[in-house]
Amino acid sequence: MLEHDVIIVGGGLAGCRAAVEIARTDPNLKVAVVAKTHPIRSHSVAAQGGMASSLQNVDPEDSWKAHAFDTVKGSDYLADQDAVEILTREAPGVIIDLEHMGVLFSRLPDGRIAQRAFGGHSHRRTCYAADKTGHAILHELVNNLRRYGVHTYQEWYVKRLILEEGQAKGVVMYRMTDGELAVVRAKAVMFATGGYGRVYNTTSNDYASTGDGLAMTALAGLPLEDMEFVQFHPTGLYPVGVLISEAVRGEGAYLINSDGERFMARYAPSRMELAPRDITSRAISLEIRAGRGIHPDGSAGGPFAYLDLRHMGREKIMSKIPFAWEEAHRLLGIDAVNQPMPVRPTVHYSMGGIPTNISGQVRSGAGGLVEGFFAAGEAACVSVHGANRLGSNSLLECVVYGKVTGATIAQYVQNRKLPTVDEKRYIQEAEEQIQALLERPGQYRINEVRQKFQDTMTEYCGVFRSAELMQTGLQKLEELQKQYQEVFLDDKGKSWNTELVEALELRNLLVVGQMILTAALNRKESRGAHAREDFTDRDDVNFLKHTLAYYSPAGIDLDYMPVAITMFEPQERKY
Ligand SMILES: Cc1cc2nc3c(=O)[nH]c(=O)nc-3n(C[C@H](O)[C@H](O)[C@H](O)COP(=O)(O)OP(=O)(O)OC[C@H]3O[C@@H](n4cnc5c(N)ncnc54)[C@H](O)[C@@H]3O)c2cc1C
Repeated sequence: MLEHDVIIVGGGLAGCRAAVEIARTDPNLKVAVVAKTHPIRSHSVAAQGGMASSLQNVDPEDSWKAHAFDTVKGSDYLADQDAVEILTREAPGVIIDLEHMGVLFSRLPDGRIAQRAFGGHSHRRTCYAADKTGHAILHELVNNLRRYGVHTYQEWYVKRLILEEGQAKGVVMYRMTDGELAVVRAKAVMFATGGYGRVYNTTSNDYASTGDGLAMTALAGLPLEDMEFVQFHPTGLYPVGVLISEAVRGEGAYLINSDGERFMARYAPSRMELAPRDITSRAISLEIRAGRGIHPDGSAGGPFAYLDLRHMGREKIMSKIPFAWEEAHRLLGIDAVNQPMPVRPTVHYSMGGIPTNISGQVRSGAGGLVEGFFAAGEAACVSVHGANRLGSNSLLECVVYGKVTGATIAQYVQNRKLPTVDEKRYIQEAEEQIQALLERPGQYRINEVRQKFQDTMTEYCGVFRSAELMQTGLQKLEELQKQYQEVFLDDKGKSWNTELVEALELRNLLVVGQMILTAALNRKESRGAHAREDFTDRDDVNFLKHTLAYYSPAGIDLDYMPVAITMFEPQERKY
């Protein structure tokens, strides 16, 4: 059996930052990172616009408290304010630390780190490396894994969390190159498995963002928090859904409708294009609904709006946001210096996730903690984003809470023995499950069921929701779950059986989708990214609380948990 003091699932920013912190705190600990991709191909590498921090390099009047207030207001007051305080207080320190590791941030003429405007932030505080920030940071962190002797398991697919008597003991994993199964036992298990964008048919996320960590946690009987809050990014490139970073609006681009009007004046007059994402995504959707969207031939009534950069000029576009220009050119043949880009909302980020306390330890419910189990990054919900995340706060969360969780784990394992695990039993169960999938005489193909599932989630639990829509969505999901029991795999082999991995991922997507729909149906209010047409107002009396959803094959049970309000009393949210 494989053994480590700590096993971290996920090689993105959160997992790598935690590994570095553990190795720095106690170089004697045996730490390993597992990823189903190469760590450098984790979705973090695709992050573009930047990472928020009140460094005060551009706006001297900025402060951690202003950053905290913007974050809490952006969250529609659902964020836990004790967690937001840590996030924003630690932000300047973690940026400097990354800089010392070698991250090449963009500079001001005097050599200090540059900072740009971002949606929902009242000051220019987003640090960036042109529009390839995730790339710059992840490469340095992965280099540092080597420097600190962290072991990496690349292209291993983790398929199960070993949880016994309320204690995490390790994971079961599958080597994609040759089908080998292995059990890893560890004194602490950490999940940093990223988001679930692939639950929807149009997303900015990579193919690996299938919510595996969330589903494994739920299938082990633990709750997931606030799953109803799904972030739609306003500017996905139409029709592919690929992200055009908010940095483009941060640098001054306009959103216009078929009348050539900057319509954000109607929805967020004080912030215009730099309103938070939930508000901007709804605005674009409403313009399209009202017939002021645009067709590919330029006529009115179509399915997208324009993101217009033309007034910004070639030099600024090519130096500040070259990647956005490149994406539109490569995918659609558009030269954004002279032509507007077609955009519409695309699924982008998961505000909810595996509930943790402010030290990164996973919660077993509203009152308790799980021994040996930790989570951070997009997969986790320490709740710094509440009902709506502000742009450039996610990279920050990964780095701050990666660090915090790493420090917690390094202490936690000091007094802990390696747990006993029945390796044979877990391997046998995994073999049986895989064999059953391979031998199924089914009539459906993975692609077909996945596409229907993604279309269902998009249609019945999208930007705007209602009880009627979501109930229909849940019925359709039940049908799809039955179809999943009848999927047929062509590939029966062991070497690079990507079809088998997709089948395992699809099961996870179905679990996550059911959690999102159920939690959303029961939140009878509109807050942040959760916009109900049958309950259009925020309802603090009944719903200023976090949802906890527990999975079981018979259905999903819901519980609720209070919000930590330590600094700012909830107010009406206006921009
Ligand atoms: C296109 C795009 C641009 C973005 N731009 C910004 C930005 O400018 N600023 C910002 O703050 N945020 C941005 N975000 C959001 C931010 O990048 C992500 O939320 C963040 O990087 C997530 O990091 P993570 O470490 O939690 O997970 P990820 O980077 O997604 O990594 C997940 C890891 O888990 C592994 N994994 C998952 N499941 C398994 C499994 N079953 N077995 C083994 N390994 C597994 C994967 O292989 C991967 O290594 C952007 C997101 C996207 C999609």
